[in-house]
Amino acid sequence: MIRTRQLQYAYPGGATLTFPDVDVPQGAVLLLSGPSGCGKSTWLALVAALVAPTAGELTVAEQPLSALKNIAADAWRAGAIGFLPQKLHLSAALTVQQNLSLVFWAGGQPEDVERIHATLQTLGVQGLAQRKPSQLSGGQAQRVALARAVLRRPLVILADEPTASLDDEAAGDAVNLLLSTARQLNATLVIATHDARVAACIDLRNKGQIGLQPLRIVRKQLSKKEQSEPDLQAHLHAAHYPAQQLQGSTP
Ligand code: ADP
Ligand code: MG
Repeated sequence: MIRTRQLQYAYPGGATLTFPDVDVPQGAVLLLSGPSGCGKSTWLALVAALVAPTAGELTVAEQPLSALKNIAADAWRAGAIGFLPQKLHLSAALTVQQNLSLVFWAGGQPEDVERIHATLQTLGVQGLAQRKPSQLSGGQAQRVALARAVLRRPLVILADEPTASLDDEAAGDAVNLLLSTARQLNATLVIATHDARVAACIDLRNKGQIGLQPLRIVRKQLSKKEQSEPDLQAHLHAAHYPAQQLQGSTP
């Protein structure tokens, strides 16, 4: 679940970004859209507790983030959040399996090779465990990065522009893979994108089957003067569906 209230973030020396409130039940999907520069990646960084808001509050996976200090935030993030960054950040010197092992080392846990292989298998890339990232196609590399994101079975999956460098077919596959992976884990899924193909793909194939909320950030950023003008605030267009619909049960 993700709950935000009057969230703002000011980059040092930059304008203040303001975000509409949102309530996303556990297991539901949030489609975070808006033009480049409107603040989608910043919103994801706030939800992942990578940066702290300059105003407002947020609760993610039942954790009020204002209560977390630096080290606690790192430990919480490692267990609760699966992040699929726009640039995948796979280590070029390591094999696919070693890239996934890093998740356990970083979390101070023993390496679970069986879990690594099972996760790669779920995502259809079990045959690539011994390859280096340079030996993967774009779609394969993204599956590996998604495997890394979900290795510790996070409660929340955050995907930043997951279709940015993919052709139409691969983009559709990527979105469906995110939806099915989140459903298996009953994880809350956020897809941040300026790509209209994502909404089209979700609407066509999954309408009525998932708890989908659209959140569009409509303002690029607000200057100090604009922040006091309420008609310029971002608008929220959210439809609310119960999370149970995700599991296919009738409410
Ligand atoms: P999006 O992901 O929607 O393209 P971002 O969250 O990356 O938007 O950026 C939102 C706004 O914040 C943009 O106007 C961008 O220029 C600004 N911004 C992003 N990162 C920084 C930074 N490190 N310092 C100052 N301004 C930044
Ligand atoms: Mg971005």
